[in-house]
Amino acid sequence: MNRPRPLPNQMASESFQPLQGMSDIRAPEVYLWQHLESASRNVLERYGFDEIRTPVLEREALFTRAIGDTTDVVQKEMYNFEDRGRRKIALRPEGTASVMRVVASAGMELQDARLYYLGPMFRCERPQAGRKRQFHQLGAETIGEPNPAADAECIALQLQLLSAWGLSGAKLQINTRGTAEDRDAVAAGIRDSLGPVRGELCEDCQRRFDSNIMRILDCKNPNCRTLVDAVPPVTEYMSEGSRAYLAEVRDLLNLLDIDATLNPQLVRGLDYYVHTVWEITHSALGAQDALCGGGRYRFTFGKKGIEGVGFAMGLERVMMALEAAGVDPAERSPSTQVYVVTQHESAFRENLVLAQTLRLRGISCGIDLRGRKIKKQMQAADRAGARWVVIRGEAEMDEGTFLLKNMADGTQEALEMPELMERLATALSIRCAATDEDTQ
Ligand code: AMP
Repeated sequence: MNRPRPLPNQMASESFQPLQGMSDIRAPEVYLWQHLESASRNVLERYGFDEIRTPVLEREALFTRAIGDTTDVVQKEMYNFEDRGRRKIALRPEGTASVMRVVASAGMELQDARLYYLGPMFRCERPQAGRKRQFHQLGAETIGEPNPAADAECIALQLQLLSAWGLSGAKLQINTRGTAEDRDAVAAGIRDSLGPVRGELCEDCQRRFDSNIMRILDCKNPNCRTLVDAVPPVTEYMSEGSRAYLAEVRDLLNLLDIDATLNPQLVRGLDYYVHTVWEITHSALGAQDALCGGGRYRFTFGKKGIEGVGFAMGLERVMMALEAAGVDPAERSPSTQVYVVTQHESAFRENLVLAQTLRLRGISCGIDLRGRKIKKQMQAADRAGARWVVIRGEAEMDEGTFLLKNMADGTQEALEMPELMERLATALSIRCAATDEDTQ
């Protein structure tokens, strides 16, 4: 049977849905987001970080160069396309590359900057629980040369964010990637150890054996995991300096009263990491317990090298952990404090002025704009959670009074403007004393 085709100016009903893997975030959920965001900003400011907002669209080459064109993020997941001027651009799949671009272009003033970003990222992944095509990351970067104290502080900050969101019980694992100079010796060590069992590795790892052998340590395949367990810790192949660096980071974490478990197989996917890498897990997430992580890095932009330490956390993932851990993160919809009810249309214009006056005084105030019946207005006040209702009709207009109803106990009294203001100010503990204008 032929379905009627929508007329050109009609949208098919699926067009009302967002694209796959993307979500609309509405109240009340949006208040949870706002809560996480404001708690984050509070912590980040305490640690001396400035927010940076970079464009969502960037040149594609920024990501292929910064993240590496052999990574899954760049090869399979990036939203890249040509714009109208045939420029190759991409929706940012992560935030660090853009921050590095800014630091590289800024010169001296950002050489030891502390920057954080919070916003949407885009990866064209197969959508599944907790993985979206538009998701949100909070990331922080401390720019500067390798310094164990900066690494320890960055880890402390990330853990502090989790606890500010109400998540306790997160576990920290730490390791080192050593320096660029260690890399050949580490690769040779792993090759010696895994060479005899190469044929037993998964297909991906057999490829990695030649292209990027360190990544084998990261493989999630259970068989590869067993084989990797027999590989000596990567630190055995590193210089004394790299080992001392890790020891210093661990010592400083200890000083800050932070438990860190050494995980010699932790390497984290990306090639730009040097020295410290870490991962935070939470048991509430089940078998796939990785929550977020971070590390020290060295990026090369043309002739410029940028060093720093940082992390990025997926907020959807954090929310999953909060829910799984049974944390109620004090989600608060801002409730309406006062609702102005118009009993007779002749009072409407004055009521509109009253609502405006209350709002100017810092009181959150609702009012019906559609001339609905008083019963509907009272229901709206109830739904909005109003603690007080101010009712005005013809009689109150004649007498120059306002009927103030306490929604908690149902009592009401007629008040003139100055008393009304004073009563609300006391009840709502805000300064909104009446001015001369109110009495006129
Ligand atoms: P990555 O950049 O892959 O190291 O991921 C950093 C953070 O972003 C982690 O906390 C991930 O859980 C989160 N993340 C990465 N990709 C997605 C996605 N497609 N949907 C939701 N969160 C993601």
